[in-house]
Amino acid sequence: MTFLLQNVLIPDAESYAVVDVQITGTDIHAITPANTGVPDLAPAHELAAATVVNGADQLLLPGFVNGHTHSSQIWQRGLIRPLPLELWLTDVFDAAPALDLEDLYLGALSTAIDTLLSGGTCVMDHVLLSFNHELESVAAVARAYRMVGLRAFIAPLIMDEPMLAGLPRGRSLPHAPYPRSTAEILALMEEIVRQFHRPEDGIYIAVGPTGFHRCSDALLVGCAELSDRYDLCRHSHLLETKAQKLLADEKYGLSAVIHLQQLGFLDHRTSLAHGVWLSDRDLDILAETRSTIVHNPVSNLRLGSGIAPILKGLQKGVNIAFGCDGAASNDAQNLLEAIKLGTMLHTITDPDYQNWLTPRRTLEMAALGGATGVNLAARTGSLAVGKAADVVLYDLTHLSMLPRTDPIQLLVMGRPTEVVNAVWVNGKQLVADGQVLTVDVQELRRELLDRSRGDRAYSFQTIRQIEPHYRSLLASDLSD
Ligand SMILES: [Zn+2]
Repeated sequence: MTFLLQNVLIPDAESYAVVDVQITGTDIHAITPANTGVPDLAPAHELAAATVVNGADQLLLPGFVNGHTHSSQIWQRGLIRPLPLELWLTDVFDAAPALDLEDLYLGALSTAIDTLLSGGTCVMDHVLLSFNHELESVAAVARAYRMVGLRAFIAPLIMDEPMLAGLPRGRSLPHAPYPRSTAEILALMEEIVRQFHRPEDGIYIAVGPTGFHRCSDALLVGCAELSDRYDLCRHSHLLETKAQKLLADEKYGLSAVIHLQQLGFLDHRTSLAHGVWLSDRDLDILAETRSTIVHNPVSNLRLGSGIAPILKGLQKGVNIAFGCDGAASNDAQNLLEAIKLGTMLHTITDPDYQNWLTPRRTLEMAALGGATGVNLAARTGSLAVGKAADVVLYDLTHLSMLPRTDPIQLLVMGRPTEVVNAVWVNGKQLVADGQVLTVDVQELRRELLDRSRGDRAYSFQTIRQIEPHYRSLLASDLSD
């Protein structure tokens, strides 16, 4: 198919230009100054059948990547108390077993739609698998993403150490071993790759060890080997909390980043969520290995994790992407909100305003930085001829975007609502006139409502096993 987007506004080096953009097949085929005639690069019969889109008063940007989320947590949005990560996790854990395969499917569907309608065209879903139904879980999530049509990286959350092992001094507490062996987990991951890794359909399996705090070296090395064998992205949580930093000292006698580097886990396909407690040396290693930090500012504040050293990372050349994180720790899944907070948050970490992030810079981080983090920068992440048409058209006539000043600054610093007018992914139009074309959103609303009315009686008990220990850490190590 061919689309002609006429008279759209795009950012150029300093300002804006009004252009016509031709999308043919999967790619951006031409970008020409507006009203200079139809670009003649496509075959005549395709142009004759082209769909013309009036782009006047609309801004075209490359799609963002939601570099880190957990789609199943849609069912926990608004549910989990304000708690620090280690205690919050126990509530999330208690709420998760109630989820069935249909819940996982609907969670991915809902996440995909939230992503599209806040400017995203790609998502990294660090996805929860239903125990003993792992293949069916991935199938349900992949089905949702394929139906919506955005690019989706599915990184099954895997671990081989129990929850208490993830806490400083936690191993000394009574606990059962993790109920599945490392070899079994890796074999299962390989089967998931064989069955579901379909880049040509926009479905990419990534290896997703939950984080060093709950993974053995054997599991991390096994994941890196799988990544090498099948050319998969690698995704993991990293140093989200101070407790995790203390645990790394205890577990390795080294920074977690040095340890991951020694295991061979860090490379240009590696994206690491959070990175709140990274040292300068850690940042140097992440830059050298071309790893990506996924910045999740909303989640980091909701869980009291801290403020990630993003400005320092950028100065050292680390690639930074944006993520929403799951809906249990960011009850909205709105990329523009995460980008807004990420743009403004660092004014309090650095008094020198010359280092502050600009809206243009953070949009580039969200798009090209995000694409780099999932090893797709050669295909997506910017408006360029020959790249995939993963693009978003924003309505500049919406009240939240008026009066007309600097559209990008207003898009990032304001509170844009319902401004995503159209979205294409890989040349296919997924959103038109603000409506998702590929799924019935009204039906999804009904299903989410119906399923919320069921007897989901949550009993948050697991916190009792951990809270006394956590409070003892709080009284000592975590307060230093
Ligand atoms: Zn997460």
